[in-house]
Amino acid sequence: MRHILFFLTALTLTFPVFGQQMVIRNPEISQLVKQVNADSLKKYTEVLASFKSRHTLNQDAKDGMIAAQNYVKAKFSEFSSKSNGRLTSMIDEFVVPSDGRRIVADAKVGNVIATLQGTNPQDPRMILVSGHLDSRNKDVMDAIGASPGANDDGSGVALVLELARILSQTEFPATLVFVAFTGEEQGLKGATYLADKAKAASWKIEAVLNNDIVGNSNSSETNISNNTVMRVFSETIPLAEDERGANIRRSINSDNDSPSRQLARYIKEVGERYVDQMEVKLIYRNDRFLRGGDQTPFMKNGFTAVRMSEMNENFLHQHENVRVENGVQYGDLPEFMDFEYLRKVAAVNLASAASLADAPGMPQDVRIDVRGLSNSTSLIWKAPLHGKTKGYYVLMRETSSSMWEKKFYTEETSLKLPYSKDNYFFAVQAVSEQGTESLPVIPSPLTR
Ligand SMILES: [Zn+2]
Repeated sequence: MRHILFFLTALTLTFPVFGQQMVIRNPEISQLVKQVNADSLKKYTEVLASFKSRHTLNQDAKDGMIAAQNYVKAKFSEFSSKSNGRLTSMIDEFVVPSDGRRIVADAKVGNVIATLQGTNPQDPRMILVSGHLDSRNKDVMDAIGASPGANDDGSGVALVLELARILSQTEFPATLVFVAFTGEEQGLKGATYLADKAKAASWKIEAVLNNDIVGNSNSSETNISNNTVMRVFSETIPLAEDERGANIRRSINSDNDSPSRQLARYIKEVGERYVDQMEVKLIYRNDRFLRGGDQTPFMKNGFTAVRMSEMNENFLHQHENVRVENGVQYGDLPEFMDFEYLRKVAAVNLASAASLADAPGMPQDVRIDVRGLSNSTSLIWKAPLHGKTKGYYVLMRETSSSMWEKKFYTEETSLKLPYSKDNYFFAVQAVSEQGTESLPVIPSPLTR
């Protein structure tokens, strides 16, 4: 039965040219995806937006940032008690030094973090899902004026809470980390702190799924209303690339194959597999034009990270003071959000994060044999360091294609294909008995 399932999986996800594509869903992940609830997301968002200001420098413990941090921490603790304590949480406080710009004086701030430890203590892999807790109004230095921040980024934090609620009821070999960052609007302070800490401690973060502005489905100016498309931003040339990395990239033409781009493709494939009526659009940028987000400090530290965002932004309700002007309501209020849309974005995140945490690790030392001239392609690799691997998919695509187009299943650690490496791109991913896939790894040349 399992062999038949595998055969079908291998066959289906791969030949869209036939005009039919069979979708095979892992029942356990499907079951988790179904639990994502629009009402829960709405409730969290409304509570977050009810605090007067979640500005990073707001110290109000009743109606401000401190109260919001305590709310997120209390939700994590509530989920923890329902998971027999397997989910642990903390407010990770630190002092952000004055930068003479958006931090006028040294300030004590904190990221709120929950960790669902993986079942295998020998497996160090971590998957991060994040949003930012802080909000702002028009004046980014105004720490007191109302800034409900329902969509920016109450939506991202609500999504993080919903995933923590559902995923803490189950278990995975790898560790899942849920983060509500502080200081995004003041210059990515909370994410920079955590990314630097992760780098210094050599955390094995396989993926960062950062969610920022994910709960609105209609645009200002162009008036587009569409709740079936979302964006995933991924860096093209890695921010952390050194000269050696640049030389390799130029020599093998892997300009469209950064680890972040592999993660974005993975999210598109897995997200669309599990979530109906949602198209995941790949944007070949690390963020919107000249803008940034909490994924950026992770990219700078060499981690694989993406930003998820809604397709159509509404600037009447982003970084605007709450007011009515000429009969138009401005401000980032929950009433302008689409919680069914947010449910689907959360479901894409959940399917991706659960699949990554369930899957074996990435194949190691993936090589493409270039020791002799050949019209075939020979790939060779080693088993992943962690997780249980049943077999591997060798992925292939045209050099002009964005997404992987064919996959070949093998239980060996090498494969020879009658397609020339001159004309296609290849990658290898490990797959579990249940069919969950690791991130793909592109091969480096085997020259001797
Ligand atoms: Zn934001």
